[in-house]
Amino acid sequence: MTGKNGRGPLIATAPSASAGRPATIWVLAGTTAAFLQSLASAAQPQTVSCSASDWIVTGGTADERRLICEGVAKAEALLGSCGIRTSEPVDLVVADSLLDFCGSKAHAVFDSRDKTISIAPMDVCVSERIENGYFDLLNPQVAYLSIAAHEATHAILDANGIRPKQWVGNEYMAAIVQYAAIPPEERDDLIEALMEPVPVSAEEINGVIYGFAPLIFAARSWLHYSALPQPCAFLNDVVSGAFSFVDIRY
Ligand SMILES: [Zn+2]
Repeated sequence: MTGKNGRGPLIATAPSASAGRPATIWVLAGTTAAFLQSLASAAQPQTVSCSASDWIVTGGTADERRLICEGVAKAEALLGSCGIRTSEPVDLVVADSLLDFCGSKAHAVFDSRDKTISIAPMDVCVSERIENGYFDLLNPQVAYLSIAAHEATHAILDANGIRPKQWVGNEYMAAIVQYAAIPPEERDDLIEALMEPVPVSAEEINGVIYGFAPLIFAARSWLHYSALPQPCAFLNDVVSGAFSFVDIRY
């Protein structure tokens, strides 16, 4: 849902000043230099460091930056609990529109060439939502946090060498981290809106369903993962290549 496998040519759009929503500046008794300095800082996008990882988020609103860092933290916690982690720094940029990805629009994209995650503004994700799409079915803040968790997973896996050997496995892991970032009750509601919550086999998670119905792919991935007796062992098998999903192209 947020940019397929990250292999295509990607666009990381710099945030506009309006995306950062700089506050009005009141200069009461400053010097000309101080006034110019405050103008310059207002034109710069705001940044924040996601505390545990030192990943930097640039642009957007304080709310967006907070949600993105929370999504990164969710990805690091789940994958880290299974021994999948990286110390590689990643830049995250709040763009000013949906992202272009291989001729379609994405909420977020990870570009492995420059280790950058670009994420559309939350209000754009909401205003341009499609019926029965991710931002139509979920609370926008929850949806936004969870897409950050999804892309953070791609970045962590990229550093661990899973990409692009097994892109279906890459998307499976991003999907289960995305779903894990959603509060359980809302997650259950989302799944019920998408499909009957029945047991799912690994064979039902493949490139075909990703291509035609990425939301179903993610829901199936979660239903499969959440029923695993040894989830960490399975995730590590996906990372190592010991387990591969069916890679059918569409
Ligand atoms: Zn993805």
